[in-house]
Order: sequence, then structure tokens, then C-alpha cells
Amino acid sequence: MLINVDLPGRTVYAKIWRIQVGRIPIYLMDTDVPRNAPQDRELSARLYGGDREMRISQEIVLGIGGVRAVRALGYEPAVWHMNEGHSAFLGLERVRELVQGAGLNFSEAIEAVRTNSLFTTHTPVPAGNDSFAFEMVEKYFWQYWGQLGIDRDRFINFARQDLAWGAQYSMTVLAIRLSVYHNGVSKLHGDVSRAMWQFLWPDIPVAQVPIGHITNGVHTKTWLSPELKQLYTRYLPTNWQEQADDPATWSPVETIPPAELWAMHQQCKDAMVKFVRERVSQQYLRHGEGTRRLNTANHLLDPHALTLGFARRFATYKRATLIFRDEERLKRILNNPERPVQIVFSGKAHPADEPGKALIQQIYQYSQRPEYEGKIIFVENYDMNVARHLVAGVDVWLNNPRRPHEASGTSGEKAALNGSPSFSVLDGWWVEGYDGTNGWAIGDEREYKDEATQDEADAISLYTTLEEEIIPLFYERSADGLPLDWLQKMKNVVRTCAPAYSMTRMVKEYTTCYYLPAAANGRQYSADQFKLARELAVWKAQISQRWASLHLEAKTQGDMQITVGDPLQVEARLWLNGLPEANVAVEIVAGRQDVKGELLHPQVTPMQPTGTDNGALLFQGELTPTDSGRLGLGVRARPTHPAMIDPYEMGLSRWA
Ligand SMILES: *Cc1c(COP(=O)(O)O)cnc(C)c1O
Repeated sequence: MLINVDLPGRTVYAKIWRIQVGRIPIYLMDTDVPRNAPQDRELSARLYGGDREMRISQEIVLGIGGVRAVRALGYEPAVWHMNEGHSAFLGLERVRELVQGAGLNFSEAIEAVRTNSLFTTHTPVPAGNDSFAFEMVEKYFWQYWGQLGIDRDRFINFARQDLAWGAQYSMTVLAIRLSVYHNGVSKLHGDVSRAMWQFLWPDIPVAQVPIGHITNGVHTKTWLSPELKQLYTRYLPTNWQEQADDPATWSPVETIPPAELWAMHQQCKDAMVKFVRERVSQQYLRHGEGTRRLNTANHLLDPHALTLGFARRFATYKRATLIFRDEERLKRILNNPERPVQIVFSGKAHPADEPGKALIQQIYQYSQRPEYEGKIIFVENYDMNVARHLVAGVDVWLNNPRRPHEASGTSGEKAALNGSPSFSVLDGWWVEGYDGTNGWAIGDEREYKDEATQDEADAISLYTTLEEEIIPLFYERSADGLPLDWLQKMKNVVRTCAPAYSMTRMVKEYTTCYYLPAAANGRQYSADQFKLARELAVWKAQISQRWASLHLEAKTQGDMQITVGDPLQVEARLWLNGLPEANVAVEIVAGRQDVKGELLHPQVTPMQPTGTDNGALLFQGELTPTDSGRLGLGVRARPTHPAMIDPYEMGLSRWA
């Protein structure tokens, strides 16, 4: 089956592949078909690489082509989930279908499309949030916006983001505007994303910006080593693989005899050492190394030494070389004859990320120095197979990103499942996962004035915890040679993290929080020729047009010390100036403030109408604060409509 999309001056075709994964069909689009020009056949050849033209073309194939593929296959999706902004053109294509086929105008079609769409943002790093110059968008879409019933300015401004280097067409903004549900991939990443995209809801406090979070999880059966799978099958309930997200499934981990757990872990570790030796010897052969070097590959890594693993993409914020910051101290740690330590690194950088590639080069060079020989190892060609060996075979999983740039991180979750505790910066999933008993933290939950200060503080914390806690715990052995306290840590990490960071838990959350409500919205909004979508669009246009004329005044006892449980009376006067009364809610918003004056956990108390006075509507409310200390207090009016899914989706409010 072939689908096609228009690119400047030509039509590009894609064929569709179907892969059956269990009960789930996955469809892939492939532009490598004879009808395409040679450069277009390359469009789906690689994920990264090429220039901005290549990128926008790929995203048109994915987004617009994706909708056409789904239709050609005969599907009528109930819910649309955009993972990252890369696929966001799919929302525009759905708008086009409705404008062309159902007679909706652009605004009405937007309401219909948003209501059953979810957007997940995966990173705060700018390189992960694609954006395009306006001229580029014009070149690719000048024939398209007419089909949406809008002009160039409306099309461009719909996804506009004003950046330090100028205005851009942002795929993240586009995705947010085309969906009613939005989420980040960990609790902290939710916080970071609300602050980052708050400009799209200018009158709404950061804490109420409609971006939630669902923390990433990993697929238990994919990432658990065969050795441990056997062990768990012996001690966990029979249905443990189906109930992987239930904490009760994992509590019998406590009953595994320490000697058995240790023996299994050692088997995984031996397998990892063997794998690494083979890989490194292939690397040496490829590099044309001599016999002496080739022989060293067969002896590197001591299967009984404390082994740290570090494997991930080498984006610079992940600071792969942080542990080399004080080399003298690192050498003392690694080369202690009684308590040796070794580190296995692996990873790839984005092809265009020169600093990331330089980090890999540095680690490789360290690994070739005599003082690190056999103790600092770099495994090339990081992929899922390398990852599987490492997460199962190392003793400790190291992760030291520059907080708060790690949106979630998942490799530590894979390691946790296999009983390897994380030793990690409190970023991404680990801020939630770490409970003091199941691994170690690097640094504090705080912000720094500059990166150098942060790097220095984190490096010191890393060395100190390694020397004073991790190494002594690992080498403390019972009379029969078992590291009992260490084994308890291993059990703790499995018991606490395996259920919470399973993909089962994650998919259930997506289903209940987003997919089911979105599917219900979709049915409601499309009923009776999209009656609700049309109504809401008309109503929003009226509100937006008249909102500026609304006026609100409030009398409170001011910003002051308020004691918990001590009620506070608030009065407000509202001049609607033509807006319908039923469509405006007046409420008290209060809560503790951070140093920047942002409300941390706003408590919203509705105010009641009590009468009129000289053309103004009077409102009264009583706030019973649940937070103590210095509270910020505001009174606001905001648009309200029974069909609105999110109370803040218009981004409008008027503060008194
Ligand atoms: C798990 C995994 C990742 C992601 O790891 P992070 O901890 O999120 O950086 C990347 N690449 C491969 C091959 C993986 O297996």
C-alpha cells in the first residue's frame, strides 16, 4: 500500500510495512520506493542527520503521511497520541480532513481535533524541541494553509514561539495547541515543562499550567535477565509477570535467601564480563591493535571487583566525564588493592553533537592509559543488547546528569529490576524512586548559580559517597563471604522500583488518565455533525473578543500571615461589560509562594454572587487556608463553559 504527501515541487510516496508485535500491529512508513527521486528515497533511511529541509520533510511524511496511512489501512482512531512534537503535523492533517470533509471552519476543527489528542513532551533540552524558520514553513505549506481555510499569518502564528534568536515555528507549540492533554515523563519533568511552556497560558500560574506527568517505565520481560527471571519465578507469585505493577507482587523478594541472590547476580556479572571482553577484543581488532593489546582484552575487568555501569546517549548534559574531574582521587579509588573499583562505559552521541562525540573520545582515551587499563572500559556501538548485558551485570548504575535536564531516564529503571541500585543525581525518575534505602543520591535537590559550581558540588558528593558508603558496603562480608547489607540494598531496589517503574504501571496510567477520557471526549464532540465542537469554537471566539473589557476589583485583608484554619473574608466586584454572567467564574487563589513569587500549590476557592451594585456584580468568598506561613493571595475571574475539558485551556483570566 502506498500513500503520498506533497513536498515543494513534487509528490513523495511511502509504502507501509506491518510488524506484528504480540497482538499489536506496528506500521512503519518507508520512502525507499522506485517512484521517488533518489534524495526522497533517503528520507526514512535515518532518524538523525541531514539538514532542516530533511527534518521538515521527514516530519511531514510522519505527521501528514501518518494520518493518510492510518486512513488507508481503514482505521478510525479514537485517540491520537503525539510523542514529542515530531509528529505534530498529524493534527493539522486531521483539521484539513474536517475542513474539507465535514464543513467545519478552522477554529471548529481545532476544537474537534484537540479533544481526543494527547501530547507528551520528552525533554527540556532545546535540541529535542524541533522548530523551523518561517520561510521554511512557507516553502513547504503555502499550498496547504488554504486547505485549512486560513491565511499565512494565522497558520504561522498558530505555532509561533519567540526565542532569543528570533521567532520560530515550534513543533512543541503546535502539538500543545492541537491537544487538550499534555504531559511530561516524570514528576520533576512535569514541573520543568509547566515553567518552560507557561507562556502559552500567560494568565495562569505555573503550578496550574495544564501539563501533567506520567513517569516513564520499562518493559519488565524485555529488561530482566534470564537468570533473575528464573529466580523471581521461584519466589514471586505465579502471575508475577502479569502483575508487574503491583507492589504486593514484589514483596516476596525479601524471602530470597541471600546466598541465592548473590550467586545469581554473580552469574549475570560473569556473563557481562565475558561479553565486554569479547566486544573489546573485536574493537581492538577493528582498530588494528597488536597482540599485546589484544591479549589485555581477555583479562580486563575483575569479576569480583565493585563494578559501576554508565551507558546512555552522550548528550553533554549527562556529563559522562564527571567522575574524572579529580583524577588523583579517582585513581586512588580504582586502584585500591583491597577494594578495587572498575567502570564500564558505553554510549553514542547524536551525529551532529560535536561536544557529545568529544566526551566519548575522552573516555576512550582514558581507557587506553596504563593507570586505567582494565578498569575504565568503553564499549562501542551501544544498543539494546549492550544495555541488557550491562544493566544486568554491573553492581551499581551510575547517572550524573546536570539537574533538571534528565526528563526521566530509563536505564536506571532497567538496572533496578535486575537488583543494581542507582547511584544518581536526584533528577528524572530517581527523585521519585530513591527512598534512602534503595541506592544512593549524588548532590542535593537544589539549583546552582552556574554550571561549574554545580559540577564541582556534584563531583565532590560523588567521590565522598563512593568512598564512604558504597565501597565499604560492597566489601563488607559475612563469615560465609556474603555482603549481607549490600544484598539487602539489592532487594530494596527490586521491591520498591520494579513495580513503580514498570511499563505496566505506565500504560495503565496513560489509559486511565488520558486515553479513556480522550476517547469519550472524541465521541461527545463529534456527535451531531460536531455540534459541541462548533458551539465551543463560537463561544471561545466571543469570549476572547470581549475578555479585555472585563473588569474586576477585590478587597481582601491583603498579603499577610495567615494561620491554618483561620477563615478570611474576601469581596469582589465584577463588571462584565457584555459578557454572559454564566460564563465567568470568580475565585480566590491562594498558596505558599516560592522566592520568585510563584504560587506553589494554589488552593482555589470559588466565590459566590451576592447581588449587584451600580452595574457591578458582587461576589463573596471565605478562604480557609490549608497552608501556613506567608501566603500569596489573589482573586481572579476566568471563562467557564460546561464543555471545556480543562478549566485553564483558554489561558485567560483577569486578576484583581
Ligand atoms: C535504555 C536505553 C536508553 C535510554 O537510557 P536513559 O537512561 O534514558 O539515558 C538509550 N539507549 C539504549 C540502547 C537503551 O537501552
